Amino acid sequence: MDSIAERLQATQNKISDLVTKADRTSNEVRLVAVSKTQPASIIREAFMAGQSIFGENYVQEALNKQIELIDLPIEWHFIGPIQSNKTHLIAKHFDWVHGIDRLKIAERLDQARSSSDRQLQVCLQVNTSNEPTKSGVLPDDVMELAKAVAKLPHLKLRGLMTIPEPTSDEALQRERFRLLRNLLDEINRNGLFLDTLSMGMSDDYVIAIEEGATIVRIGSAIFGKRRPKSQV
Ligand SMILES: *Cc1c(COP(=O)(O)O)cnc(C)c1O
Repeated sequence: MDSIAERLQATQNKISDLVTKADRTSNEVRLVAVSKTQPASIIREAFMAGQSIFGENYVQEALNKQIELIDLPIEWHFIGPIQSNKTHLIAKHFDWVHGIDRLKIAERLDQARSSSDRQLQVCLQVNTSNEPTKSGVLPDDVMELAKAVAKLPHLKLRGLMTIPEPTSDEALQRERFRLLRNLLDEINRNGLFLDTLSMGMSDDYVIAIEEGATIVRIGSAIFGKRRPKSQV
């Protein structure tokens, strides 16, 4: 099997090719390497290969690894579901949070961050599949949430994030990503200046980039199949 360095390089190359080919307004696509369930040694290996942005889903697991990696200037993104009793730890130990879907969570993150810290960079998670069981704010409610979150002093609202339902139907994938982009445009027409579309994972990032993603969150395409959680 290829090394992590090789797979990172291949992924970066593919992203650059897609950006060049796609008709996009922004040329920037940042790669968040999703390292959930991977041990700190693997993150270190990826860092040494040039990757400095990592995404984690589970607070305690991430904190354990951050202690081991304290010597590395990593930008940490929290991409998992946010429990309200974990907002304090998330606000203190991460640079970005992607999964905000209600005001109460945003307010708690805001309160936990102090004025001397850099603002916490945040995205709102949108339920683009309109499935009642999925997390994320519904498309109709995004504008109101965005306006409220944008007012919180210790947060910097950067944009929108989505995890569409898994499907092999490319037209449907495209439709979900396009919906997210249209929502971002609509919010910006209403006076905010959001620059981030966090969309695309190992199986669908090609389409996400064609549709305007500025952050892709990729795990298994870089690190291989995930380990069972108990091994971490
Ligand atoms: C696990 C995860 C990813 C990465 O998924 P892969 O399919 O391994 O690329 C991206 N985003 C979120 C929110 C995740 O939970």
